[in-house]
Formats: sequence, structure tokens, C-alpha cells
Amino acid sequence: MIELIEVSKTYPGGVTALDRVTARVEPGELVAVVGPSGSGKSTVLHLIGTLDRPTSGTVRIDGHDVAGLSDRRLSALRATRIGFVFQQFHLAAGTSALDNVADGLLYQGIRRAERRRRAAEALDRVGLGHRLRHDPHELSGGERQRVAIARAVVGRPPLLLADEPTGALDSRSGEGVMELLAELNEAGTTVVIITHDREIAASLPRQIRMRDGRVLAERVTA
Ligand code: ADP
Repeated sequence: MIELIEVSKTYPGGVTALDRVTARVEPGELVAVVGPSGSGKSTVLHLIGTLDRPTSGTVRIDGHDVAGLSDRRLSALRATRIGFVFQQFHLAAGTSALDNVADGLLYQGIRRAERRRRAAEALDRVGLGHRLRHDPHELSGGERQRVAIARAVVGRPPLLLADEPTGALDSRSGEGVMELLAELNEAGTTVVIITHDREIAASLPRQIRMRDGRVLAERVTA
């Protein structure tokens, strides 16, 4: 699903954020990318999310070499094959949970009524079938993150990228969100969770550990 081969990323100004990183994620895996602040996690997320391109090396996502795709093809790959979840939810205010999720299908040429039908189904899947009409500010943090997860998976992408998904939540809602991500993984989605939290990372089957822009030896739990 994800292949990074000798990937380096140097930002303008000369900061080498990634130094010859090689890593692989197989379809169906649930993996943490873990490391302290500044170790290169966000840069990895941007590269595997096709939001940025490497300075050198190969990034392959879902069978596509990112270097060989135009910006347009890359956007299409991102829109249809990758779901994103962020620490701060990024939901639209003044827009119901249902429409927030339905908007996740805007770029797929699906009619509004069908988008809303699928959004209701996705909200049901994350346990929020009873909150369709609620505005984000009427929901708890944990519920907001569930809405964001529903939006990320409503188009049924094979890959879900979550950037510190529990970072803004109390520990109990955080656990619920982690359980939900594990459920989605069991149902077949490849899930990559970026975190600085070693406890969260250790709860996942595999960790890709980063330090100073490099990947340390991998660790497999149990
Ligand atoms: P993490 O997500 O683990 O905190 P990052 O990938 O954000 O790490 O950062 C890795 C290194 O690259 C850091 O030294 C950071 O300061 C630098 N960096 C990140 N983004 C940029 C950018 N857009 N421009 C310049 N330097 C950056």
C-alpha cells in the first residue's frame, strides 16, 4: 500500500527533514509512525498523503509512483484512495454532521441525495447515527473526531492516515477513537497513525519509529 525507498526531503532553507527513509506498509496493516517532535513524522505524512513530493527517492502509494503523476492525477489519487484525520478535526462550523460527512464525497461526482445517504451510513458506522443534524459545536470532542473519521471513510478509501487523532481528546474519548480506527482496520482499511505518544504507538501491531529524520529499527508488538 505504501512504499518509501531511500526517501529524503530537504525544505527550502536547507533543513533535511528526512534522510534516506525506507519503509513499507502492506495492505490491511495498522501501523504507528512514532517519534519525538521534529523527527520527521509530519513530513512522512505529507509524502504518503501525496500532499508533497520528496527531494529524492521513491514514494509509491497504492501502486502509483508519485513522481510519475501530474498534480491533477495526484489530487485524484488523494481524493479517491486516501482518507485523512487530523488532531483538530477540521469540521465546518454551522454545517450539520451529515453535511460535513457528505462533503467528503464532493469531488466524486455523486449527487447530493446519494452523498447524504452514504454520509448517514458512515455516521451510523462510527456510532453517530443519532447525531446527523447536530452542528459540530453541539458535539463532544470525541464525537467530533468520529464525524471527521466518518468523513474520511465515506468514500471507502483503502488507506486512512490519522495525524495525532487523539491529541485533542481526553483519554477516554481517545480510547474510543483508537478502537474505532482498529475496527475500520479490521474491516479492511489500511490505517497509519502518526503519533508522538509511545503508549498509543505500543498499542498498535507495528511501529515505524523515527528519530532525526531517519527510521529506527522497527518493532512488532506481540
Ligand atoms: P514532526 O512531525 O515529527 O514534529 P516534522 O516533519 O514536522 O517533524 O519536521 C522535521 C524537521 O523538518 C524539523 O526540523 C522541522 O523544523 C523541519 N520542517 C518541517 N516542515 C518544514 C518546512 N515547511 N520548512 C522548513 N523546515 C521544516
